[in-house]
Amino acid sequence: MPLTYFCQKCWREVPAGARGPCPHCGAPLEDNAGYTEKLIRALDSPEAATALRAAYLLGKLKAAAAVPALVAKLQESQDPYLAAAACAALGQIGTPEAAAAVCAARKHRFATVRRVAAEYCPRGEESDV
Ligand SMILES: [Zn+2]
Repeated sequence: MPLTYFCQKCWREVPAGARGPCPHCGAPLEDNAGYTEKLIRALDSPEAATALRAAYLLGKLKAAAAVPALVAKLQESQDPYLAAAACAALGQIGTPEAAAAVCAARKHRFATVRRVAAEYCPRGEESDV
């Protein structure tokens, strides 16, 4: 699976396996130990774009460890785009807990989220939780 890496300071894309200073902001690039944990923390970033990117990447990584944090964002975020991104990530991760949250989100208060939920949890395939 090809992975895209991001500077953990400025969140811009960097070459896979890059070491040394970030070409964008000069921050030291760490190895990817703890990458998932940092992405989970980034879900709470005050910058909406950073939180969105973190949700997107957690979905791409199928990061099961991120399910509780993503469920919380899906259910509690006041940002429809972040809630929808969390929903999509959960759909991609696909653990039973994630799938249950996605299916429940077919009744989410945000239409944007409901559309994403319906995409990952087609009607009739799974019962609501
Ligand atoms: Zn950087």
